[in-house]
Amino acid sequence: MRRNQQQLHGCNLIAGVPASPKAGVNEFTAVDPARGEPQATVFFEAADDQLEQAAEAAAEAQHLLSQTEPKTRAALLRAVAEGLEQLGDVLIERCMAETALPEARLHNERARTVKQLRMFADLLEEGSWVDARIDRGLPNRTPAPKPDIRRLLLPIGPVAVFGASNFPLAFSVAGGDTAAALAAGNPVIVKAHPSHPGTSELVGEVICAAVAQLGLPGGAFSLLHGPGTHIGATLVRHPAIQAVAFTGSLRAGRALFDIAAARPEPIPVFAEMGSTNPVFVLPGALRTRGSEIGRGLAASATLGIGQFCTQPGVAFVPKAPERESWIEDCARAITTQSCSAMLTQEIASAFEDATARIEAVPGVTRIVADSPRDDSDTAQGSKPPPGAVPPGGARAFHTDLKTYLSTPVLRSEAFGPCTIFVTVESGSELLKAARSIGGQLTATIHGEAAELTEHHELCMILARSVGRVVFNGFPTGVEVCSAMQHGGPYPATTSAQFTSVGTAAILRFVRPVCFQDMPQDLLPAELRDENPRGILRQVDGVHTRAAIEPDPIERPES
Ligand code: NAP
Repeated sequence: MRRNQQQLHGCNLIAGVPASPKAGVNEFTAVDPARGEPQATVFFEAADDQLEQAAEAAAEAQHLLSQTEPKTRAALLRAVAEGLEQLGDVLIERCMAETALPEARLHNERARTVKQLRMFADLLEEGSWVDARIDRGLPNRTPAPKPDIRRLLLPIGPVAVFGASNFPLAFSVAGGDTAAALAAGNPVIVKAHPSHPGTSELVGEVICAAVAQLGLPGGAFSLLHGPGTHIGATLVRHPAIQAVAFTGSLRAGRALFDIAAARPEPIPVFAEMGSTNPVFVLPGALRTRGSEIGRGLAASATLGIGQFCTQPGVAFVPKAPERESWIEDCARAITTQSCSAMLTQEIASAFEDATARIEAVPGVTRIVADSPRDDSDTAQGSKPPPGAVPPGGARAFHTDLKTYLSTPVLRSEAFGPCTIFVTVESGSELLKAARSIGGQLTATIHGEAAELTEHHELCMILARSVGRVVFNGFPTGVEVCSAMQHGGPYPATTSAQFTSVGTAAILRFVRPVCFQDMPQDLLPAELRDENPRGILRQVDGVHTRAAIEPDPIERPES
C-alpha cells in the first residue's frame, strides 16, 4: 500500500481495513479553502469491487451485530468517543486545513460529536428505547382465543451515511447518523465528503479500531471515498443497503431519494436538506427589544459564515414606526460581518449565484453597508484566495410580501450568510406569510408575552410546517438532547416523522417486529416475562418495569 504522509494513507477502509488502491481509479486531494492550495495527501476513489466487498461484509456483519448485547454496542460507541478525543490536535489541525473552520469551532464540534456518541451509549445501557409492548394472550377467550403479541424495534440493516461538508465531525464519519445506526445494531458504510477526506480517514480509522477492539465483525464499518456521484449512487442502489442518511443540498438529497425509490426493493432515505428558517418579529417585541433582536438575528445569520442548515434566511417584519430603521440596522450588522473562506469554492460560488438571482428579482433591494468589510479573517489568519470568499460578503435584501410570495427563488435556501427582510402590512399578511413558508427545519417568533397569546394561530400554523418552533431565540445552535426534533416536512427533509439530532434519531434505523405466541426462551430478552434488562415496557396497556408474574388464573378480557 502506498502511504502519502505519516498519518494518512488515502485509502478506502473496507470492512475495517485500509484497501490498496486499484489501478486506474480516480485520485484526488483535499483543497485548503483558506489558501486555495491542494493538500499533499492523495486519496483514492473506491473501485466498484471494493464497494461490493464493503456491502457484502456489511450484510454478513448484520446478523452478528444485531444480536450483540446493548452493552457491547454502548462500549463500541464509548470507544469511538474516546478515540476521537485521543486524536487530540492531529484531528483539529487536519480538519482546519480541509474546511477553514476555526479551531475553537472544531473543538466544540468534536465535543458535540463525542457527546452524541455517549448519549447513544447511555440510551443503549438504559434499554427502554426498543419500545417493548406486550399484550398477553387469552387462550380461553371466546369466541376466539387472543394470541400473545409482543413487539419491539429491531435494526433495519446496513445503513449508507453521507458525510456532510458543513459539519465535518458532528454530521460526518462518526457523526449523529453513524452513531444512531450503530447504536441500533446496524453496520454502516460511510460515503466520505470529498471536501474533508483526511478528517474522514482519521475518524474512520478510530471506528475501525473500536470495532476490532470489541471483537465485532469488520463489516460493521467501511469508509468509501468517491468524488462525483458514482460511488454514492451505486451505494444507494446496492441491495445490501437498507437505509440512507444524508445532509446536504436539496438537489443531491432528492437525487438519492429518487434512486432509492427506483430500486426493485425501495428503501428509506433520511435526507436533511436545509431550509430558510423564517423569523417572525411581532410589533411589541420590535418596539421594546428591537436592537437586541436585531443583534441576535445578525449573529445567527452570519454564524459560521451562514453555513448552517438552521441559518435564518428570511425575516418577516410587521408595520411599525421603527421598522425601516430596524431593518437598516440589522442589515448593516449582517453585511459588515467579516467573511472568511467558505467550506469549499463550490459552496462559495453557489452562494454567489443564489444571491445574484435574488438581487435580480424586480422588487428586491440589496441593502449595502456603508463601512467596508474585512475579509482577511480566516481560520489560519491568512488572506483567503479569490473564489473561496463571496466577493460581496454577507448579504441582506429587502422586499414586500407580494414579491416574496410570487417568486420561488426568494423562498429557496441560499446557503451562506444571506437574509431577506420581508415587510408585512397587517396581521392577515403575517398569517399569509406563515402559511406560505413550506417545509422548514425551524421557524422563530419574537413576541412579548401578551402578543404571543394573541398570535396563537400564527404559532399553530408554523407548527404545521416546521420541526421546531423557537420563541424569542434564534434557530442556530441545535441542542443535542432526547426531546430535539431536527427535521421538518419536505423540502426540509424527505421524512418529516424523524429527527436527525438527538437520541430519537435512532428510530430512523429500526423497524418494529411483533412475535405472536413465541416461546419464552426464544423471545428477545426485552420481551421475556422476567424483563431481565429491567426496561420500561407497555404490558397490557400499562407502562411498567415490573416482571410479568406467572398467571395462575386467566385474566378477564378488558
Ligand atoms: P451536496 O452537493 O449535497 O453533496 C453532499 C454529498 O452527496 C457529497 O458526498 C456528494 O458527492 C454526494 N452527491 C451529490 N449529488 C449526488 C448524486 N446525484 N448522487 C450521488 N451522490 C451525490 O453538498 P455539498 O457538496 O456539501 O454542498 C453543495 C451545496 O449543498 C451547498 O452549496 C449548499 O447549498 C448545500 N448544503 C446544504 C446544507 C444544509 O445543511 N442545508 C449542508 C451542506 C450543503 P460529491 O461531492 O463527491 O459529488
